[in-house]
Amino acid sequence: MKIMPNRMDRGFGRYQKEFEEKALEVLRSGWYILGKEVSSFEEEFAAYVGGNYCVGLASGLDALWIAFRLLGIGPGDEVIVQGNTYIASVMGITMNGATPVFVEPDEFYGIDADKIEEKITERTKAVLVVHLYGVASRMDKITALCKKYRLKLVEDCAQSHGACFDGQMTGTFGDVGCFSFYPSKNLGAFGDAGAVVVKDKELAEKFKVYRNYGSEKRYYNKVVGTNSRLDELQAGLLRVRLPHLDEMNREKAEIAAEYTKQLQNPKLILPRVPERSTCVWHQYVIRCKERDRLISYLEEKGIGTIIHYPIPPHLSEAYAYLGHGEGFLPITEEYAGTVLSIPMYNGMTKEELSYVIQALNEFV
Ligand SMILES: *Cc1c(COP(=O)(O)O)cnc(C)c1O
Repeated sequence: MKIMPNRMDRGFGRYQKEFEEKALEVLRSGWYILGKEVSSFEEEFAAYVGGNYCVGLASGLDALWIAFRLLGIGPGDEVIVQGNTYIASVMGITMNGATPVFVEPDEFYGIDADKIEEKITERTKAVLVVHLYGVASRMDKITALCKKYRLKLVEDCAQSHGACFDGQMTGTFGDVGCFSFYPSKNLGAFGDAGAVVVKDKELAEKFKVYRNYGSEKRYYNKVVGTNSRLDELQAGLLRVRLPHLDEMNREKAEIAAEYTKQLQNPKLILPRVPERSTCVWHQYVIRCKERDRLISYLEEKGIGTIIHYPIPPHLSEAYAYLGHGEGFLPITEEYAGTVLSIPMYNGMTKEELSYVIQALNEFV
């Protein structure tokens, strides 16, 4: 059997007719940028997450860097972020000239809230929480700390569409919730797309102006902005997918539950979800000390896997200038050396699932 780590075609196939009808409708409409699909999606997505306002943007990275830009964070400022994240989280900070200050993750792959306070200095302006792999981070301590030290709180929800802490959706705890709709995300478009969710009306207006060259009224530019518009086609297709998000997340949760129930191999460490959090299983990430051997073993059996992520941002060439060497973040580095994402996608068949489980259980 051949099993790929992800099968986006399966997620598409289930709702193919709806997607095709919407695509044709938009193509025939004669209106392609910032129209009724975008404004409707913004309303529907804000309602889904329970945030006040949503502003559609061109990508998740844009959501992050524009968020820090509009919160006034720049050169000389520090932003606290977990070490074990996708590099885009960190680029969202450094594109503004600010400095990322790394904190180790907890055992659930979220930022370790108990290690934040010791990293706060007079230059600290914000905390960026990444709900990695779909697990909602434990937000109680983090929101309290941000209040105590008057720090901005930004959430990277690129992997957590629909995940909650204490029944509250990720993306609504802080000043800005940043979302990516890259095709492989839980809520994926058919190209690049992103959005922010914010509480504050004035801030929402700023995002709308900033994404469109800083202009509110055509050819009257208030600020130096950028081009980060969500297009009508992607917004329309996202509107088709959004009402199915919960059922798609539920299906992934069922697959995850099977993995957790049936995987029984002392060589593997399985993912866990904190008590008051939910997980939308963007990835099912295991850890294995003999990861290279496990990868080749699975490959031989036709099972594909991915490492999220092999090189933590602080050790990547791009961030050599920060001067952090190996050993700077031992837990982050240990995770980078042992994590492995096993196949997890909508439309995974029972046969595929059992095949993967059996292969993993037979690994010696
Ligand atoms: C995908 C992702 C991003 C970036 O989103 P893009 O839409 O690809 O720009 C940022 N942070 C995390 C954690 C991601 O997984």
